Amino acid sequence: MSGGTDSVQEGCVFCRIARGLIPSDKIYEDGDFLAFYDLSPQAPVHFLVIPKRHIESLMDLAEADRNLAGGLLIKARELAEKLGCAGKGGRFVINCKSDGGQTVPHLHLHVLAGRPLCWPPG
Ligand code: AMP
Ligand code: ZN
Repeated sequence: MSGGTDSVQEGCVFCRIARGLIPSDKIYEDGDFLAFYDLSPQAPVHFLVIPKRHIESLMDLAEADRNLAGGLLIKARELAEKLGCAGKGGRFVINCKSDGGQTVPHLHLHVLAGRPLCWPPG
């Protein structure tokens, strides 16, 4: 545990998904990470990768989370590859806090792929 975050937060929807209390369309799970399809997909492929530990946002990552943060990115790449997105790529996004449009305050990485995605964001 680091960065002043609790490992599980009772009211957090992603903590509840990580504990199996809320169903999800799961793609991958290990001791540290969970990946599942987004409930409201914005691209043909749209899934989320989360650390199971409750970390509110990217701004709450601590130096001690270096391996976890790297692991999150590598896992997203690995799963994107498995789902056939390596050739054309996609968008790997972490929305952070209010200006970033983060709606679920549990760190998550969006993987969007399967169509061309516009830039810059609105
Ligand atoms: P953000 O706006 O970056 O915080 O993204 C939160 C994402 O979580 C949104 O794309 C939602 O559609 C997605 N989401 C919220 N609740 C669930 C859920 N129960 N299962 C899957 N995805 C969810
Ligand atoms: Zn949480």
